[in-house]
Amino acid sequence: MRWRRTFMAEVARMLQQFGMKACPVCGLAESLNMNEFPVLLADGRLPLGVDALGEYHEGDLTFAVRMDCIICGHLMLFDAQRYRTGDEKILVLGLAEDEDSPSGELPPLEAAAI
Ligand SMILES: [Zn+2]
Repeated sequence: MRWRRTFMAEVARMLQQFGMKACPVCGLAESLNMNEFPVLLADGRLPLGVDALGEYHEGDLTFAVRMDCIICGHLMLFDAQRYRTGDEKILVLGLAEDEDSPSGELPPLEAAAI
């Protein structure tokens, strides 16, 4: 499961609008790299014994966009939900390059329920 290219471009554009043009630690521009795979964050409300993603429910997981600085290693996470427009599809299942294939995509809410 990875971000759609169009979604990554949109997040990058919005982060630039917010003023993030360089790494906040080392200050170097052009050193920030966006990871194409989401980082899944679970909060502490999950019941014990949940060992499969299938057991998670919508809202239990945060899908985060990971940015890392290739120079100093600073890691930043951004809540993907903040950058999503309506029901826009933001995830592609698997590693398929063909983003137009409906079989390789999940709507965000269904993806969040995996
Ligand atoms: Zn840095």
